[in-house]
Amino acid sequence: MLPELGLVRSDDLDGVLAAVDYDHAPYAGGTELVPAMGLGLRRPAAVVDLKRVEALRGIDVDAGAATVTIGAAVTHRRLSDHPAVREHLPTLAAAASRVGNARVRSTGTVGGNLCFAEPRSDLGCVLVALGATAEVRSARVTRTLSIDELIVGAFETSLEPDEILTTIAVPFEPPGMSYWKLQSYERPTLGVALVVSESRWEVTVGAATERPTRAVLAAGDTAGLAAFVDGLELSDDMTGPPEYKRSVLRSHLGRNLGATA
Ligand SMILES: Cc1cc2nc3c(=O)[nH]c(=O)nc-3n(C[C@H](O)[C@H](O)[C@H](O)COP(=O)(O)OP(=O)(O)OC[C@H]3O[C@@H](n4cnc5c(N)ncnc54)[C@H](O)[C@@H]3O)c2cc1C
Repeated sequence: MLPELGLVRSDDLDGVLAAVDYDHAPYAGGTELVPAMGLGLRRPAAVVDLKRVEALRGIDVDAGAATVTIGAAVTHRRLSDHPAVREHLPTLAAAASRVGNARVRSTGTVGGNLCFAEPRSDLGCVLVALGATAEVRSARVTRTLSIDELIVGAFETSLEPDEILTTIAVPFEPPGMSYWKLQSYERPTLGVALVVSESRWEVTVGAATERPTRAVLAAGDTAGLAAFVDGLELSDDMTGPPEYKRSVLRSHLGRNLGATA
């Protein structure tokens, strides 16, 4: 049972920013927040609806800067279906199209995914691999953070209680990018984003790590790759022990980088 709860609604960003604080939690799709409140893990006095704010729902392309800017309240469904995202960020669009189930994709948002910081996420891993940055705002201040600086641990961000994530700026996808996930339940068990060129291997591992973890190596540096894989702290949960996940990761990297990690 949910306790009695207030609802703050505003059509403009300033109205939302004036309302958000520790007792007034941002609320987008509610796919994480509502179950967390039901379990008593989160007890705000009120939720502040972000979905009505136009500034949080845009998807804009800046061809000059080769960047797509995505509003925090954009749903997974809209992200995966949007022509500009499919054109410039095809790996992100494909990852969004495979999030959870139809209900989560049509109500869950990019911002809710990143700000809940549940490790078993696809989008965090892909956005770290793409070098995306997050704009964070409160009534006091505006900050720009890498996704790495935003997600600081499992279920932990660097957001202050009065701050919200407003937009994510994502550089156009580079050639040689791929994302693969191992998934046996609704959320991913292991996610691997690769950006491979003649000179570099960029490897980002998510879902089994507390937060997406990235290594940039010279192409062919199999020793460096092995050290990265061996050094990862992988989760031990109902989807399998760390050594199982490490072995799947080694095999995926071996197949895709032509290396025995
Ligand atoms: C059954 C299930 C399966 C799933 N499978 C996958 C999967 O395969 N891959 C994957 O990547 N994800 C998966 N997810 C996670 C899913 O992507 C998130 O639940 C969803 O994106 C959260 O968005 P929301 O808008 O519902 O967030 P909400 O529940 O509204 O909010 C989540 C948290 O973030 C805060 N918040 C929300 N928006 C902002 C903002 N703009 N600024 C600051 N704080 C904010 C809220 O206060 C709350 O603490 C799954 C979830 C479920 C329930």
